[in-house]
Amino acid sequence: MLNNNFIKELNKTFPRENVLAEIEERYVYSKDASNNPYIKNSLADAVVFVESIEEVQSVVKIANKYEIPIICRGAGTNTVGACVPTNGGIILNFSKMNKILEINTQNMTAKVQPGVIIGDLQKAVEEVNLFYPPDPSNLKVSTIGGSIAQNSAGARCFKYGATKDYIIDMLVVTADGKLIRTGSNTIKNAVGYNLGSIFIGSEGTLGIVVEATIKLLPKPQCTQVIMSYFDLTQDAINVVDKIIEKKLFPSTIDFMDNNSIKTVERFYPTGLICDKDCALIIEIDGAKDTINTQREDICKILRKNNATNIQYSTNKQEAENIWKARRSSMAACTKLKPNVTTDDIIVPRSNLSKLIKGVQDICKKHSLTTCLVGHVGDGSIHPQIPIDYSDEKEYREYKIAKSEIYQLAINLGGTISGEHGIGLEKKAYISRVVDGGALDYMRQIKKIFDPKNILNPYKIF
Ligand SMILES: Cc1cc2nc3c(=O)[nH]c(=O)nc-3n(C[C@H](O)[C@H](O)[C@H](O)COP(=O)(O)OP(=O)(O)OC[C@H]3O[C@@H](n4cnc5c(N)ncnc54)[C@H](O)[C@@H]3O)c2cc1C
Repeated sequence: MLNNNFIKELNKTFPRENVLAEIEERYVYSKDASNNPYIKNSLADAVVFVESIEEVQSVVKIANKYEIPIICRGAGTNTVGACVPTNGGIILNFSKMNKILEINTQNMTAKVQPGVIIGDLQKAVEEVNLFYPPDPSNLKVSTIGGSIAQNSAGARCFKYGATKDYIIDMLVVTADGKLIRTGSNTIKNAVGYNLGSIFIGSEGTLGIVVEATIKLLPKPQCTQVIMSYFDLTQDAINVVDKIIEKKLFPSTIDFMDNNSIKTVERFYPTGLICDKDCALIIEIDGAKDTINTQREDICKILRKNNATNIQYSTNKQEAENIWKARRSSMAACTKLKPNVTTDDIIVPRSNLSKLIKGVQDICKKHSLTTCLVGHVGDGSIHPQIPIDYSDEKEYREYKIAKSEIYQLAINLGGTISGEHGIGLEKKAYISRVVDGGALDYMRQIKKIFDPKNILNPYKIF
């Protein structure tokens, strides 16, 4: 009855095509890339496609009146259950708020709506020789709003940092429907608390991002991708250390273990060499006349550390092909079992080899396959574990392995998420890495911003 009333009100406020309430429609939008049937979630009551800030405020007003949850949704590519409903509510879909409002070449900023797809923004700014580095791997679908809410990062984080390093200002609709501005249209801002940083990474639990101003960089004149293979993983890790020790600064240092190489080559063949222990994908960028020197310095380190089959791209297409292999790893894993889980543990780089070896040993102990990839330049890895959720024994082993993997990362001085966030998937583990006092502050912040607990409730903690 209550639901009927609020849906009636949504229908009165929005054009019919922007409110979905059929069960199939609600089902589709109540899923994300976590896709874990053991996560306790529910169906949304309605999906609303918003087209303006005022419309977002109208939805918030209705949600307030009926005390109904609002769950923002970008492209649903988060892997932690961050945008699945737990207690029904309204899915706020931003796919129609997808305009790049301004690219200012003098200020080197872009102003965007939250539904802008990251790849579209990158393409648009590169056309005017500017650059937006964060790349959460799903460039063709992931949105700016979703990546702000998860503080996404991706391969280029090693050199260029995460989403938080680029958001200088936001317009946010708060839980009571007010519109607030978090920063200013300037590169520096030392006025009061850094409110923006509270919303970035808050997984849609504190406010709804309806516009963002993004700092851009000059587009690097040239990029080149170097791929190399190793018979011993330790040699690859030594390369990472040596590159950093020599103060070389590639934009990415990414890793693929033997299982991920073989799995990608089996299902999305691009000519990878399958009998090697692992591969490194290193991207360099910068002024044209520095590229050859950078590449040669890195190749020297590679050769000294027993890298084999060193190859590098000579044009954009070849670079794309190398990245395509790395980007296909999760999709390839889904061919091994009906599902695949991924994680994003991170440790101080000095403990990287212990982390890789430890994760491989844990998975072996629990009879799980793992395809291990990662942005090893930052010390982070993604263990991708193909899984059949209908096999209860396998799921039990997976749960134990997951807990052991988190504990391993913690024991090595790291943490349980470098870029994917917490959502529902990891909330049971957050107290292992955030102490009670800090968690208490986080809960109080949530209460201040959202006293009725209507913004993406029950996520994170
Ligand atoms: C194969 C694969 C590889 C991946 N690789 C990486 C990687 O390398 N690095 C990385 O960082 N991530 C990676 N991810 C995770 C994912 O792509 C990112 O988290 C992405 O930025 C999420 O964007 P989205 O638009 O899909 O957001 P969604 O998944 O739709 O939402 C994510 C969160 O944002 C909230 N949200 C959405 N819009 C708003 C808004 N306007 N206001 C407030 N909250 C909002 C949602 O409620 C949810 O909590 C990967 C995922 C997959 C499936």
